[in-house]
Amino acid sequence: MTHPNVAIAELEQQISAVQWPQLDRKHLTYADIAPVMDELAGHAALRVTHIGASYLGTPIRRLTLGNGPLVVLAWTQMHGDEPTATAAVLDWLQLLLTQQLSGLPNDWQQLLTLHVVPMLNPDGAAQRTRQNAQGIDINRDALARQSPEGRLLWQQVQSLQPTLAFNLHDQNPYYAVGNSAEPATVAFLAPAYHPDKHVDSARLQAKQMIAHMRQMLSHWLPGGIARYDDSYSERSFGDNIAGTGASTILIESGAHRQDPHRQVARRMNVIALQVALEALFTDAHRNYTLADYYAIPANTADGFCDIKICQVTIDDGTHAPFQTDICLSREKGDELLRVEFIGDVRGIHGFTEYDARQQQLPELINIGDDATELVASLKPVQAGL
Ligand SMILES: [Zn+2]
Repeated sequence: MTHPNVAIAELEQQISAVQWPQLDRKHLTYADIAPVMDELAGHAALRVTHIGASYLGTPIRRLTLGNGPLVVLAWTQMHGDEPTATAAVLDWLQLLLTQQLSGLPNDWQQLLTLHVVPMLNPDGAAQRTRQNAQGIDINRDALARQSPEGRLLWQQVQSLQPTLAFNLHDQNPYYAVGNSAEPATVAFLAPAYHPDKHVDSARLQAKQMIAHMRQMLSHWLPGGIARYDDSYSERSFGDNIAGTGASTILIESGAHRQDPHRQVARRMNVIALQVALEALFTDAHRNYTLADYYAIPANTADGFCDIKICQVTIDDGTHAPFQTDICLSREKGDELLRVEFIGDVRGIHGFTEYDARQQQLPELINIGDDATELVASLKPVQAGL
């Protein structure tokens, strides 16, 4: 489906042409991305700086393009098990290095400096954990800074003083857009820098930028973009970086149907980042208001479960039969299906749903039961994720 905006349609084609195919994976480690970073470093325009190392000694690199006074800083995978934006920023750099982009002025590299830190938490990535090797959640370490990775990020912010900062994460797949049956494939936030959620000029710009990015992405994700809760989080990096006067934007990559490797969110990240970069030169985002930002539906936790069995009848032969919904979760690489919830789950959607109104179970089921056999006997009405 071609975007009606010719420049954006062209951009999408260019992104498809440059995406790193080897990064189409469910998870990414440092070993996966190091060869890609090495290849990017072959371009004379890209500067690579080893800014430090993780707790266990894996190098952390910063990739830089341009020499201009406007400074943009983006970092990814601060949570080790959240790899989607790592692939996206490596695509983005390849796009900027190899394509003629009609949305940018020819001399943009004299006007702007773009710094990207892919995979801030390589130890967590190696262990597939949110936390680093110390067990610390780096995104709760912005004040204490007990993690080397957190100290590195803070040093980057202090020394580079970005105008625009991108904090790039993945969210669990169960977030929905508002009360809809659409998964939140992308969620945005302009974090607060104070408990009272003041909006200074930098935060206003972040909100306008988000409204603009959302507008551009809505062609592909008409109901799939949400607004993340903006409660102030004292210990978190986004909130503290917003407090430095940087227009700070959190992008959460989320689930999309039939997309287990989150390649839709990956592509949407690249488009969003590029649209934001271009807007710094055109001020396209200045046409949006705070109302446009708040019109984005809320990012709703627990809007989905993996599998929903609707209205099965349980009749144990001793008690009166009753009808109930059942939610199941996939575990151990999708091999196991476990009962997670029994009862009324209206308002929660299943990525796969079964209509079991004609189905009877001869005995009670329990939370935690293996439901693989039960599901094998049912026919899905909506097959998903
Ligand atoms: Zn995260």
